[in-house]
Amino acid sequence: MKTARGPLVLFAVLCLAFPLLAAAWQAPLAVEVAPQTGEAEKGAVTPWALAIHGGAGTIPKDLPAQERDQYLASLRAALELGRDMLAKGSSSLDTVEAVVRFLEDDPLFNAGKGAVFTHDGKHELDAAIMDGRDLSCGAVAGLKTVRHPISLARLVKESSPHVFLVGDGAEAFATEMKVERVPNEWFDTPNRRAQLDAALRQEAEAKPKGTVGAVALDQQGNLAAATSTGGMTNKRWGRLGDVPVIGAGTYANNRTCAISATGWGEKFIRHTVAHDISALMEYAGLTLQQAADRVIHEKLEKDDGGVIGVARDGSIALVFNSAGMYRGAADSKGRFDVKIWE
Ligand code: ASP
Repeated sequence: MKTARGPLVLFAVLCLAFPLLAAAWQAPLAVEVAPQTGEAEKGAVTPWALAIHGGAGTIPKDLPAQERDQYLASLRAALELGRDMLAKGSSSLDTVEAVVRFLEDDPLFNAGKGAVFTHDGKHELDAAIMDGRDLSCGAVAGLKTVRHPISLARLVKESSPHVFLVGDGAEAFATEMKVERVPNEWFDTPNRRAQLDAALRQEAEAKPKGTVGAVALDQQGNLAAATSTGGMTNKRWGRLGDVPVIGAGTYANNRTCAISATGWGEKFIRHTVAHDISALMEYAGLTLQQAADRVIHEKLEKDDGGVIGVARDGSIALVFNSAGMYRGAADSKGRFDVKIWE
């Protein structure tokens, strides 16, 4: 009996030892395939991307150098603000809101201070913001006293059960939200007054330049879009353009891209431009650049305007069919440029 037990004990010992030996054998492998940490120290950067615009239209190439430089300096400052936020890990939503707020305060652009005049010599402001993570969005239109329409749009998204608030109701919501208010004349600028006077003489709605927008991909891989405008000079009857219409002038979807448009709003609404670009990517497999080119150059007509877009892979498209578009782009690979014409 004694001799028969020996192999059994050896077998039992081996059975117990095998999993331990196997684990010890695999341990070094497991270490090898574990995710690398400290990539930042080794120079690897999590991708982010940002594009901004300050409006599209007939921007004469002989724009006085001083004026041109003012636009470029302002675009650069806005781009720096957004770049620094994204590089530090801020969300795309916070970034596009901050960049658009900055541009709303710059009298050069047709959003916030510096917004165009309506037919009645007033200002009516529109804005929208969208989060590509969950398609949540907020839009406001026909605002008269809200200093930063883009921030009220964000509050619609986050503090109301709705998507789109207009006119007196939106103003009442602004009161409840306690956002900063200014008298309507605060938005006046002499340039915009001159544009209204010229439009009134011609009895036409003048195509404006200077709507602002920002789109971004953050380090978490989330996309967001924001757009803000005073609309068209000499507009009346409560006219709204594409900017606050989700899918027309503003759209973001983590599956595809974030888009902000500028140009002749009626055309952008008819063609649901921003969503069309996203849909071409999602359903037809086009790249952002291909989709934006298709819509801006093949569906819209010359001089209608343009879009800025950032795709989920961090690629950027800046496409317009007008003479120029105030714009800028920056990304984690070191791109940083601002342009007006080609
Ligand atoms: N799209 C804006 C609107 O129609 C104007 C612009 O982008 O310049 O209200």
